[in-house]
Amino acid sequence: MSSFHLPPHMSPIAISEPFTKAWGGIINSYSPAAIEFVGTFIIQLVFFWGPSAIYLSLDTLFPKFSERHKIQPAPKQPTRTEIIHCLGLVVKNQILSTALHAAMIYVSTITGKSSFRVDASIPPLHEVVRDFIFSLAVREALFYYSHRILHHPRLYPKIHKVHHKFTAPVALAAQYAHPFEQVVANILPITIPPQLLHSHILTFWLFMAYELLETTTVHSGYDFFLNAAKKHDLHHEKFLIYFGAIGVLDWFHGTDGSKMAAKRKAKSGAAVKDGKAE
Ligand SMILES: [Zn+2]
Ligand SMILES: [Zn+2]
Repeated sequence: MSSFHLPPHMSPIAISEPFTKAWGGIINSYSPAAIEFVGTFIIQLVFFWGPSAIYLSLDTLFPKFSERHKIQPAPKQPTRTEIIHCLGLVVKNQILSTALHAAMIYVSTITGKSSFRVDASIPPLHEVVRDFIFSLAVREALFYYSHRILHHPRLYPKIHKVHHKFTAPVALAAQYAHPFEQVVANILPITIPPQLLHSHILTFWLFMAYELLETTTVHSGYDFFLNAAKKHDLHHEKFLIYFGAIGVLDWFHGTDGSKMAAKRKAKSGAAVKDGKAE
């Protein structure tokens, strides 16, 4: 019996000739620093501002459709003034992210230690999948624990309260946060994991694009993609449940909303049995 195996360099990405050629052209024309900086900026523009604009415009363009799919009722939705205020802080946070990225690239060019692999090669599919899954898992841990720490009574009023201003979030509110939170809970959990693996810049962009789509969607306030936003929306509404994105650590630490509701139900059931409840 013989089986068919694609050689590693023949991944579906690698065999797409025009893409490989275009990438080679970019590599030959610009420095790795310029490619990393501009490419990352474009990913941010397309995958954060793009979906944010689409989600936000639904209200105006298709009000009936929008109302049908909103998770929380109309009276709870933020006002236009609040959304404009949100836009101001998000732009500031994006300037901060871009400035930090420029500083990081500057340091890497001086030290000669680059964070990502920026070369003419196209990463093989198995490497992209491996780096993506690893980054997803590490991001979950970094995001879950930093988020839980930000809910500590000493830190919450000074830092994380800003992000919780929107109890019924909108996509743009994904980056409506105190600058410290923007760095610790939003930027680092996404940028550290692929840097640990010295991933190819294309893999990093793919992962970043996915995370930006995920965060805008879970903050969108809409029940799209099998109600993907439901858990984070509930976190904004009720605060102490669903700290993570994937849900594994919420399950492990008992901060899963349905688990907590079942516990509460069991407790009140036991109280009724003991004659403690009215
Ligand atoms: Zn949030
Ligand atoms: Zn929170």
